[in-house]
Amino acid sequence: MPAVDDLLQRHQQVAERSAPSVQGAVPGLHVTVVTCMDTRIDPMEVLGLKLGEVHVLRNAGGIVTDDVIRSLSISQRRLQTREVMVIQHTRCGMATLTEDEFRDELERETGLRPTWAVEAFREVTDSVRQSVERARRSPYLLHTDQIRGYVYDVETGALSEVA
Ligand SMILES: [Zn+2]
Repeated sequence: MPAVDDLLQRHQQVAERSAPSVQGAVPGLHVTVVTCMDTRIDPMEVLGLKLGEVHVLRNAGGIVTDDVIRSLSISQRRLQTREVMVIQHTRCGMATLTEDEFRDELERETGLRPTWAVEAFREVTDSVRQSVERARRSPYLLHTDQIRGYVYDVETGALSEVA
């Protein structure tokens, strides 16, 4: 059985279905968190968050890509967020890839070379700084004075500010 069917069953089994406890779409803390899709990271847990407090944007690496800038611009311009936390992490899978090898693999297997960057990196702190800098320099964001970057250590659970 596909895992999604299992998830749909779980959904049915939740005793009481009700609307979300938060009704407003504006994040209460006016913060957007950008982080990796890695299974070990639970942003709600890591930051002690409650539903409705922040926007969370996730992708492979927690990289500030053009699509993240798209969401950040909507988050700031329509949903009143003013601060950004970029959180990448130790032992990230993106540090095991190389840009060219992964692009070559995709092209070899599909006949199509991707138009997008893989965004592989060697040093996570460099990657955080790059992402933070992209956001700070974006002409589309209204608030760039509180864009900060962190590395989350998946072994200790510690968060270190690096940008
Ligand atoms: Zn990762």
